Amino acid sequence: MQFATNGFSEQYQTLVMMNTISTIKSPRGRYAPSPTGFLHLGNARTALAAWLHTRSQGGEFILRIEDLDSQRSKSEYIEANIAELKWLGLDWDEGPDVGGKYQPYIQSQRHNMYHEALEHLQSQRNLFECYLSRKDLQDIASAPHEKQIVYGLQERKLNEQVTEQKKLEGKTPSLRFGVKSQTLRYTDLLQGEQLFSAMHDVGDFIVKRADGQWAYQLAVVVDDIAMNITEVVRGDDLLNSTAAQLLLYEALRATPPAFMHVPLLADETGQRMSKRKGSLTLSAIKEKGVKAQRLIGLLAFSLGILDKVQEIEAKDLISHYSRKAYDASILQLTEKHLEWLYATT
Ligand code: GLU
Repeated sequence: MQFATNGFSEQYQTLVMMNTISTIKSPRGRYAPSPTGFLHLGNARTALAAWLHTRSQGGEFILRIEDLDSQRSKSEYIEANIAELKWLGLDWDEGPDVGGKYQPYIQSQRHNMYHEALEHLQSQRNLFECYLSRKDLQDIASAPHEKQIVYGLQERKLNEQVTEQKKLEGKTPSLRFGVKSQTLRYTDLLQGEQLFSAMHDVGDFIVKRADGQWAYQLAVVVDDIAMNITEVVRGDDLLNSTAAQLLLYEALRATPPAFMHVPLLADETGQRMSKRKGSLTLSAIKEKGVKAQRLIGLLAFSLGILDKVQEIEAKDLISHYSRKAYDASILQLTEKHLEWLYATT
C-alpha cells in the first residue's frame, strides 16, 4: 500500500487505509441532506432509496448534515430534517443526534479533516490558485448561459494573465483541482456504465472557494472516505459530480464507494422537485394529517418497489427491495397520486 506522507497526518492515513479494506466490511450507506430547507417529497424518496439499499443488505446507515453553504444552511433545518426523516420511519446507526465513531456528523464541524486533505492535495501538486471571478468566467464562456462552465485551457490561460494584477489588488484566490487528460469510468448501480472525459466533462474544479468555504466535492469525498462509506445512493442531479469525486478518490488514494444515482421525482406540473422552487414538503403534508405510512407507500410505488399504492411502514419494505424494482419506477407524481395521499385526511 502506498501513501503520500507529506503533511498528511497518521489519522488520515489510517482512515484511508480503512477504506481500502472496505470491500470486506459490511455495507455502509448514508443520506446527506443540506439543511437549506424542509425536506420535500423528492428528498424523502431519495432518502428512502438510500436507506433501503443499505438496510436490505444488512448494512449500517449514517446521517450526515452537509451545512457548508453557510448562507443557506440553518440550524433549525438540521433539527427539522432529522425529525422529518424519523417521522418517515427511517433510522440510522450514526448521526449528529446519536453520535458514532466517525463523529462529528455535521460538516461545519469537520474543517480539520478538509484541511488535511487539502494539504495532501497541495503536496501532490494537484491544486492551483485561481483568481478568476464568476464574472470573468462567464465573460469567456463559449455558451454563457450554460449553468456549468467547464474550466479548461482557455480559463487556465486567462488566469495566468490576470494573476499578477489580482495579487497586487490583494485578491484571495480559490483553489482548484487541475485535471489531466484522462477518461473516467465507473459503473453506476442503476444507470450502468458511465464515461467522462476529465478535461471536457469535468474541468478544473474548485475545492476551496475564495471566501474560504470548502467546496461540496472535497467535503463529500473526505467525509465518505473518513466515514468508511461503501454505498453512495443519491439523486441523479449529482451524476456528473461523481466524475470530479473519482479524481479526488484517486488523488487521496482511497477506493471509491459504489454509486447509485436515482432519478429525481417531478411534481404534477412536470417540474423536478426542488427546495428552491418550494416543492411540497413533508412538513406540509404532515400538517394536513397525512400519515407517514401513506407517503412511504406512495414513494415506494414511485420507486417501483410496490406495484400499487398502499399504506406501509418503511421497515416493512426492506424485504421487498431489489434494484430490479427501478425498472417499474415512475418519475412524476400526478394529481391522482396526490389525491390518494390526501384521501383519508
Ligand atoms: N448534500 C447533498 C444534497 O442535499 C447530497 C450530497 C450527496 O449525497 O453526495 O443534495
